Amino acid sequence: MSYDAIVVGGGLAGAALADQLARAGRDVLVLEREARFKDRVRGENMLPWGVAAAKRLGIHDELVHAGGHPSPNFVRLTMGQFSPPRDMRVTTPGGDEMLNMYHPDLKETLLARAASAGADVMRGATVLALDAGPGRLPAVTFEYKALRQTLSSRIVVGADGRASLTRSWAGFEVQRNPELLTVAGTLLARTEVPDDSTYLCMGPGIASFWAPLGQRRSRVYFIYPGVAGRRALSGKNKVAEFLQSVQSVGVPRAWLDGAEADQLPCPGVLRHRGRFYPVKRTMGLVLAQRSSSR
Ligand SMILES: Cc1cc2nc3c(=O)[nH]c(=O)nc-3n(C[C@H](O)[C@H](O)[C@H](O)COP(=O)(O)OP(=O)(O)OC[C@H]3O[C@@H](n4cnc5c(N)ncnc54)[C@H](O)[C@@H]3O)c2cc1C
Repeated sequence: MSYDAIVVGGGLAGAALADQLARAGRDVLVLEREARFKDRVRGENMLPWGVAAAKRLGIHDELVHAGGHPSPNFVRLTMGQFSPPRDMRVTTPGGDEMLNMYHPDLKETLLARAASAGADVMRGATVLALDAGPGRLPAVTFEYKALRQTLSSRIVVGADGRASLTRSWAGFEVQRNPELLTVAGTLLARTEVPDDSTYLCMGPGIASFWAPLGQRRSRVYFIYPGVAGRRALSGKNKVAEFLQSVQSVGVPRAWLDGAEADQLPCPGVLRHRGRFYPVKRTMGLVLAQRSSSR
């Protein structure tokens, strides 16, 4: 079978694109390394303009059905003082609220939707190499069920995330910012945070971001500047220290009392660096990646 497009990576970008291409009648193959998506320190807040895009693509209701948690208000807490909630439904051009969704569920939902739209989806397929250049169709070599195979298509889409190998294979130059921020995060269960809002809490030189997911669960981040050095906040035995760090930002005690980390690894740490990929002409290859990480 020959494909119009081979999408490397079935994450948010790859799955959403494959879904749209399949619905437009294109033959699409998605190669996704993970057989089942695991929790990672990322997400879960979709801002109103993302919700508007999800509505335009016709996927919003499905996301809500699969556990997406509407969050109408954005609330700031500065030095322990709450600001009035910003109701996104009346302060954004589209009148959309935010949507918080557990990241692996979001990915599973989008990829299942792409498959139901007619895309061929191979889970547990790892792309190992890309061949692209003038005068020939781009081709990817991948391993699936212990078999190595090479397939070509009119176009290859590199949607393989922040550590994209497609990007390197195609010779895209990556420019990086200094490490401005470090983000440690985990998923909390049994928290008392009110779940009609999403919160940015700011203390002196530190911050905490809360995206409640419903059912007393919330994704929680502790964010601190790179100039403060590196703090070892990653791993199962660092949960207490992570929660203390979040508390030091000035979040209400009640949000943390009785709360516990729900997933492993918990918490995880991510160093934030903007990354930029100057445009480069390459035959038959598209990169579907954000130009700067959040
Ligand atoms: C700490 C943190 C917090 C964030 N918070 C938010 C937030 O609140 N709201 C928001 O909108 N964004 C947030 N983001 C950004 C958001 O998570 C990313 O923009 C988004 O996940 C990128 O989607 P993607 O499809 O490009 O990559 P991914 O979702 O990473 O998907 C890439 C996929 O490619 C697969 N893959 C990789 N290599 C291969 C290979 N060789 N072969 C086959 N498959 C491969 C991977 O398994 C993966 O499934 C956050 C990011 C971080 C790091």
